[in-house]
Amino acid sequence: MADASLLILPGDGIGPEVMAEVRRVIAWFGDKRGLKIDVSEDLVGGAAYDKHGVPLADETMAKAQEVDAVLLGAVGGPAYDNLDFSLKPERGLLRLRKEMDLYSNLRPAQCFDALADFSSLKRDVVAGLDIMIVRELTSGVYFGEPRGIFEEGNERVGINTQRYTESEIDRAARSAFELARRRNNKVCSMEKANVMESGVLWREVVQKVHDEDYPDVELSHMYADAGAMQLTRWPKQFDVIVTDNLFGDLLSDIAAMLTGSLGMLPSASLGAPMANGRPKAMYEPVHGSAPDIAGQGKANPIACILSFAMALRYSFDAGAEADRLEAAVETVLAQGLRTPDLLGEDGVSPVTTTEMGDGILAALDASL
Ligand code: NAD
Repeated sequence: MADASLLILPGDGIGPEVMAEVRRVIAWFGDKRGLKIDVSEDLVGGAAYDKHGVPLADETMAKAQEVDAVLLGAVGGPAYDNLDFSLKPERGLLRLRKEMDLYSNLRPAQCFDALADFSSLKRDVVAGLDIMIVRELTSGVYFGEPRGIFEEGNERVGINTQRYTESEIDRAARSAFELARRRNNKVCSMEKANVMESGVLWREVVQKVHDEDYPDVELSHMYADAGAMQLTRWPKQFDVIVTDNLFGDLLSDIAAMLTGSLGMLPSASLGAPMANGRPKAMYEPVHGSAPDIAGQGKANPIACILSFAMALRYSFDAGAEADRLEAAVETVLAQGLRTPDLLGEDGVSPVTTTEMGDGILAALDASL
């Protein structure tokens, strides 16, 4: 198995607590599976601000550019709410995404059988669900110019601009088709080609990339509003969904809710391939720093552990080990282990963050 380097940035709030469990998982793969990962650790967010006066030090940024993958916990917290915008913890995260040019955001929505009753949808709609949303992350209406609030006549006007170049669409489409080939070979592209020119171009470019280089993958197109409806009606019809930054923001949150708790949701942000062929990559749980439960042993470490599973699969060429880790998570959930965020009405008593980690390590041991 190839050697690999990983920079861990635990961040703030529950970030360090969930990351401690990931470190035990990484150590397990080193000891028991011979997976040699060179792990380094640094500060991001409020923790970096406390030490360096900025949410991400230049040296940390340089390290992130060198490693095979970054794994981030979470940033933010009430202590930093009143800082200038440029110093807020989230700016550290945005700097990483921007300077590493992480243009493709992968958000899986996977429903573990033991949690199917946790969804707001009926069990048969979500049980066994396994879909992936690929959201374009570095362009579109969140970045397009002109933008701002301007005076116009005797009132103000707020402007944002949806803008996509062919190459930006091309690379997002490619990452979706590549992923689909490792999954069930189906891509659904979502835009609003009926009312937006950027949507017309999006559809054309995705189709062209498909026809030229990925004819083996099944491709369909859907308007994003219809897609939102289909995601809640019968999400299992999808495998990979590829969409722009704005629609992806909304659609991935809808997909997230199909599966229950924020504490379960991993993500990956990928960029262009590096010299060694691996994509630039940052992995992180979808949740934030959860200041309301920080320091109490209540955080669910699964989202961060599953983010590491994504790193195994997409950065470390260790798909079989990623399967093993995901199966271990499935096992502990089936055994009834629940952090407080996963408690239903059934009178199960909750386990702590560390106990959840213990359970996953035991399930990994049992997998050998
Ligand atoms: P949050 O995700 O931190 O928390 C929302 C709710 O979900 C809280 O009740 C929290 O206790 C719960 N929760 C979240 N993760 C959990 C886990 N692993 N286990 C159990 N429960 C969990 O969102 P928020 O409260 O809106 O934001 C808190 C701080 O986090 C803010 O400073 C915000 O800016 C920041 N934030 C950071 C990120 C990030 O680092 N990627 C993302 C979102 C929010």
